[in-house]
Amino acid sequence: MTCHECGGETFERRTVEIPVQVGPYRVVDRSVVLPVCKACGDAVIPAETHEQVELRAALVALTDAPTMTGPTLRFARKALGLTQTELAGKLATTGESISRWEREERLTNETMLRQAVRALLMERLMPPTKDVELRKVG
Ligand SMILES: [Zn+2]
Repeated sequence: MTCHECGGETFERRTVEIPVQVGPYRVVDRSVVLPVCKACGDAVIPAETHEQVELRAALVALTDAPTMTGPTLRFARKALGLTQTELAGKLATTGESISRWEREERLTNETMLRQAVRALLMERLMPPTKDVELRKVG
């Protein structure tokens, strides 16, 4: 392994601080441990780690921020990898309604929409249960 920044070859595993801009907020993630270049402190964040960081940032913003802004909803939707129509399908609403929300034209029913998007984020952050099965006993 060679550092992209300085060509250094010595790395140590450390907690890295990853700031993420979510709408008007900044979420700082300190839960990631990565190999960090000992010479310059540079760390490469793998794509799948970045995906998880964005999902967590969206969840924290939707949980701790006093209101869900349009840009916050857009960030959460993109972290989930969904189009406006796809998100609308999961929430039993229309793409137009999601689009208006993201443009902050309609800020009613915030609580329900916020809870529904949080549930989708939590579902994505949970480990899959594909190797666990239910069997009837006796
Ligand atoms: Zn380096």
